[in-house]
Amino acid sequence: MKIESNDNDKDIVVLTKTLSNLFYKSPPNYSEIIDFVISYLDNGEYIDILNVFFQISGVLLPLSISVDNSKKYQTSWLEKLKTGSIFGAHCMTEVQGGTDIFSMKTTAIEFDKYWLINGQKTLICNAHNSEVGLLYTNFNTTFNPPYNLCAFILDLKLNGISISSPIKTIGLDGINLGSIYLNDVRLPKDAILGCIGEGQNIAYISTTLERLLIPIVFIAKLYQFYKSSPQSLKADFFRIYIANRLFVEKILSSIDLFSWNREYIKLGCLLKWHVSDEYIKAAKLTGDERHYLDSLSSWIYSGNNDSLKNMVSRLV
Ligand SMILES: Cc1cc2nc3c(=O)[nH]c(=O)nc-3n(C[C@H](O)[C@H](O)[C@H](O)COP(=O)(O)OP(=O)(O)OC[C@H]3O[C@@H](n4cnc5c(N)ncnc54)[C@H](O)[C@@H]3O)c2cc1C
Repeated sequence: MKIESNDNDKDIVVLTKTLSNLFYKSPPNYSEIIDFVISYLDNGEYIDILNVFFQISGVLLPLSISVDNSKKYQTSWLEKLKTGSIFGAHCMTEVQGGTDIFSMKTTAIEFDKYWLINGQKTLICNAHNSEVGLLYTNFNTTFNPPYNLCAFILDLKLNGISISSPIKTIGLDGINLGSIYLNDVRLPKDAILGCIGEGQNIAYISTTLERLLIPIVFIAKLYQFYKSSPQSLKADFFRIYIANRLFVEKILSSIDLFSWNREYIKLGCLLKWHVSDEYIKAAKLTGDERHYLDSLSSWIYSGNNDSLKNMVSRLV
């Protein structure tokens, strides 16, 4: 990340550090976090806060749960992420491997001294300004997916890695998305998180934490809509904002971010599906096309809502 190049980059470091500290409080005060995001949006950019949330919820917090504290390689990356001075990218999606992550084609082959990685990831947020990735691959064994899924810490400066030019989206202008190409990349042996097959659990952790925490950003948007709404719509927008805020605070207060529980998978799907639907409805009500297009993307990332509904119905 070019952290010294301009003031905005420095602001992002401060923002990342401030938010990380709020999440690392034990327990985090979600009302305080939502108020912080709301006040940030008074002057700051929605896209910046979204990029920071992707990094904290999809990389920093999942790594905090899954790194092996006896492996210096892993703990040193985690420490750097915690300072906010580097960014991390959540490298899961592939072409034809978005919702259906178990059909991913990126592979890891184990050698005596390294892992050899080949494949391609796409729609990766912060691909261009990250130094490290949380990477998912398959492993060439006789086991079938998901029992061969692996998760790695990926040093994005290694030989064999290249990154596409930015991917344009409809809405979310300025969001930092790219494809990452992995061509005979050699990862150190200690880069694997857990063991072969453990990637399935870590994938649940990272996707669930994104689904649980991204709704905080939607709540801040709902507050903005309320604040800028005409008098005739104020009551409607306030009802949408406050009902969703209470729902998000209630769910988040019932979980422990640092102690993984599979029950959270259902909560994460439910929360993101519900609040993103409400956000889209409210954005439509503002009558502003930019708000509406931005909100549509909320339906897609971290797993589209159709697949979240399917997961919830399987888990109840
Ligand atoms: C702004 C943005 C940021 C993102 N950031 C990241 C990132 O940082 N890291 C990362 O790894 N990925 C990221 N993604 C990718 C994102 O997670 C995927 O786009 C998402 O998982 C959906 O996968 P897909 O695009 O392959 O769509 P698909 O899964 O192919 O879905 C396409 C269509 O099929 C429908 N569909 C799919 N599955 C079902 C189902 N089970 N039931 C019914 N209908 C279904 C969907 O509703 C949708 O209309 C990002 C995407 C966006 C838009």
